Amino acid sequence: MGESVKVRDGYTISDDGLIHYAERAITWPEADEMAGRRLDRRKAWAFIDGELCDCVSWTAACSGCSDEVGAARGGGCSECGYHGVSRQAMWVPATFARATPHREGE
Ligand SMILES: [Zn+2]
Repeated sequence: MGESVKVRDGYTISDDGLIHYAERAITWPEADEMAGRRLDRRKAWAFIDGELCDCVSWTAACSGCSDEVGAARGGGCSECGYHGVSRQAMWVPATFARATPHREGE
């Protein structure tokens, strides 16, 4: 069994403006139950405000050292380990990818 699935219910913002998400991990069977279908174990999933989301990640120019919009990479800084790029990840609602439910034996 790989990673478990995260559930995010709201967040708090600290005095320094950082967002702290209230997250907890649930097991795959619990996640399947919440999703109403069997989730692909190879992917990363999360339930954000009750909505099933899929993790999409990509490499983008580092925001710390790239001032040009659309630049492939920045000049390098301590934030990105002087690579000029950083790994970005975002949760995207999975609803559009949801297939028509078809239940066998009903
Ligand atoms: Zn950088």
